[in-house]
This record gives sequence, structure tokens and C-alpha cells, in this order.
Amino acid sequence: MDTDASYHMTPEEFRRRGQEVVDWIADYWQRLESLPVLSRVAPGEVRAALPATPPDHGESFEAMMADVERVILPGITHWQSPSFFAYFPCNGSGPAVLGELLSAGLGVQGMLWGTSPACTELETHVLDWMVGMLGLPDHFLSTSSGGGAIQDSASSAALCALIAARERATSDGANRTGCDGRLVAYASTQAHSSIEKAVGMAGIGRDNLRLVEVDERFAMRPEALEAAIAADRAAGRVPCFVTATIGTTSSNALDPLRPIGEVCARAGIWLHVDGAMAGTAALCPEHRAIQDGLELASSYCFNPHKWMFTSFDCDCFWVADRGALIRALSILPEYLRNQATESGAVIDYRDWQVPLGRRFRALKLWFVIRHYGVEGLRHHVRRHVAAARELAGWIRADERFELVVEPPLNLVCFRLRGGDEANQALLDRLNASGELFLTHTRLGGRLVLRMSVGGTWTERRHVVQAWEQIRAEAAALERER
Ligand code: PLP
Repeated sequence: MDTDASYHMTPEEFRRRGQEVVDWIADYWQRLESLPVLSRVAPGEVRAALPATPPDHGESFEAMMADVERVILPGITHWQSPSFFAYFPCNGSGPAVLGELLSAGLGVQGMLWGTSPACTELETHVLDWMVGMLGLPDHFLSTSSGGGAIQDSASSAALCALIAARERATSDGANRTGCDGRLVAYASTQAHSSIEKAVGMAGIGRDNLRLVEVDERFAMRPEALEAAIAADRAAGRVPCFVTATIGTTSSNALDPLRPIGEVCARAGIWLHVDGAMAGTAALCPEHRAIQDGLELASSYCFNPHKWMFTSFDCDCFWVADRGALIRALSILPEYLRNQATESGAVIDYRDWQVPLGRRFRALKLWFVIRHYGVEGLRHHVRRHVAAARELAGWIRADERFELVVEPPLNLVCFRLRGGDEANQALLDRLNASGELFLTHTRLGGRLVLRMSVGGTWTERRHVVQAWEQIRAEAAALERER
């Protein structure tokens, strides 16, 4: 046996292969428009094309990349396609991908300040930058009572916020005992499913999530929230957490933060604001009204990986008072003790999240901000909002269609005048074409098509093409019926 053998890819080979992969990605982005947006493979097809057992001996890089083309690519739904209008976007961009690559190359695990000071300090710095970029309240700054951390997702941010809220509600002597089964959380009927999941995971119990009714624009009714809190208090329960959403998933509804925040302040309840997708709009001063009242929130999150051209995963999460969060999530086993932590002079971000280990995500966000500049980011956000509003105008002007709600930003909800069946048929035809990808929701009990305009590469012309196709498929459908 040759004990000196090495099977590693040498740095020289990595250099060569890395350049090939970067070329492949650049070519991929250039050919995105020629690929069917929604993957067409059948269940099991990808696995059937893979060998049943792993190789005993290493294979060539050419063989791997050939399989990426042959097996993987057909099984990809092209989230980066400019005609991907489904769900909410999940963006990437050149600087973000290069930041990811650098993060992987450095191979840092940033659980403690001491495990890579730059990982922690860049994150703190970029999140402080973002407070200014978005016009967020000053108490979210690390130099104030609060601060921010990057989470993998808005779901994790909601869970951390809820755990901190639970900590706050149960940490005084009166509540520490006897809260079991009595804690209650609130969100509108339109809140994202991650809130219900967090309530379940945090042990509050899904039955103790009150779904507050919404108005005709699908925004939470603050008076209904206040009534629900009062009813729970009267029944001896302990209201501890409210989530308000700016930009709900179904329709981009904007919960009115100020009156909701005032209800929470009066009741002494933690308010978490979920701005997962729409939060990016606050880069533009003309859209900042969406977060009016955010200074009343105890925590806030938005996802640069949705609309701010930063590759998945990247959620920015801020708290107004870091004490409750850290009390709830901090743990210090002997093997992690170190002088920097004990000095109290540093942030250890493992205390701000569920897992111990963490990726160096701030690099990609830093690259994005530095590449585009704030003005560059605003430029693209404005173009997306303008295209969505134009689309809404075309829908309004076509009597075959109904605009279901006025789009506050970049999500357009519409339907064919007719039943759910016709709308489902239209959606199926559009998605089968491969030319674009839309998804649906239900609003007021009716099936509604959603068109979310926010992809990195999505320009006005793609929205024009999509609308032409929607009209053509609607006409074909009408002819067939
Ligand atoms: N909140 C809202 C309003 C969302 O639309 C989404 C996802 O689309 C989420 C939370 C969950 O996001 P994540 O995938 O980052 O957990």
C-alpha cells in the first residue's frame, strides 16, 4: 500500500477546474432563456439516471460535469430564469456567487468571534450598514441595545424571535412556573406557514396560535388582534408573541405596523415583523412607508436571498434588545470557553441562532452591496415594481381578467373571470409551455394566479412576453371550451 498517496484535488487542478465551473455558470446564465423554466422530469427520473452504488475509485472531473448536463440540468427548475415568476424569487448574482465561493474556499465556521474574527465583525458591520440602507430603527444597531445576525431563513428568524419572546414572557418569577400550555401567539390568517411551524417547534402548541382576521386588502385588523389578546387574558392565558407581515406570501399584503405595534406595546407583547420578500423595497425611500411603525417591533427580518440579488441562504434578523435572545439561546460548554468570550467584548453569533456552527454568509452580502451600491440595488427594485404595476394596468384593461388586489409592490395577483377550474387550466397550460413559471394561491376562497416580478435577470420585456403568453393561452382555452 502506498501510504504517501493522496487523492486530493491539488490546488493547481482546482484552479483549472474552478475556472471551468465559473465558465459553466456564466454560460448557464446566458442560456437561461432557452431552458424550460419548470423542470419536466417525472418523479424518480433523476435517481434512475444515477448509478446504484458510489464509485470505488475517483472519477474524472469531465465525467462529473457531463453528468451535471445530462442528469442534473433536466431536473432543475430554473429559479434564475428571467421568466420565473413563481412563489417569491430566490435570487443570485455574480458578486453573490463569488462571495459564496470565497466563503467555501476559506472554509470558515464562525460559531465564536475567536473562530474567525472577520466572520463575526463583517457580519455585524454589514447588518449595521443595512439598518441605514433600509431606514430601520436605530435600536437595531449593534452599537445600541439590539443588533442583527444573519440566519439561514426567515423561518429560523421567526423561531429565534419566538424563543426570545417566550423567554421574556416566562423569565420573571410570576411567570416562570405555570405558563405551560398558557402562552399564546398571534398572526394574521395570511401569515407565512413558518410562523405556525415555529409555534409548534417552540412548544407553544399550534392550538395556541390565534389567526387574526384581515381586511379587504388581506392586512391584519389591529382591533381584531386587540380583542383576541383581551379574550385570552380574560381566560387566564399569557399572550407573548405577535407576528406582523410586510408583504404576505399570498398577496403581498402589508399589515399596519403602527397600530399593531401600539396594541403590542400596551399589552407588553413581543412584536416580530416578517418582511421576508417585501423588506427589500425599503432600500427605496419612496417605499419606506411599508415599515412605518417598525420602531415598535421587538424583532424584524427580511431575506436578501429573495429580492436583493444575494444567493440562498441569507436572512437578516434584528432584535431591539439582544438580551432576551442571548439569554434564550446562549450555552457555554467547557470546550468552547475562551478569553475573548469571557472578556464580554465580542459577539459570539452562536448565541443568536439555533445551530452552533455557522457559515460565513456576510461575505456574499458584502460583495452584493459593494458591487451594486445602494443606488444600483434601488435601480433594479424600482424597475421590478414599475414592471409589476404596468402588468397590473394591462390586466385591469383586459375584460377577460380580474386584478384581485392592487399590487402594493412587485407581486401581481389576478384571475380569469370564471371559475377555479378555468384558472387552474390556464395555470397548467402556462407552466407546461416551459416559457414561464407562475404559481397560485387562494384569496377570498378563490383560486388566484400570482406573478412575482423580482428575478435578478427579469426585465420589462420578460413581463411583456409573459403577459402576451397569458393572453394567448387564455384565448386558446376559451376556443377549446
Ligand atoms: N415569510 C414570508 C412572508 C415568506 O413569503 C416566506 C417564504 O416565501 C417565508 C417567511 C419563509 O422564508 P424562508 O424560506 O426564508 O424560511
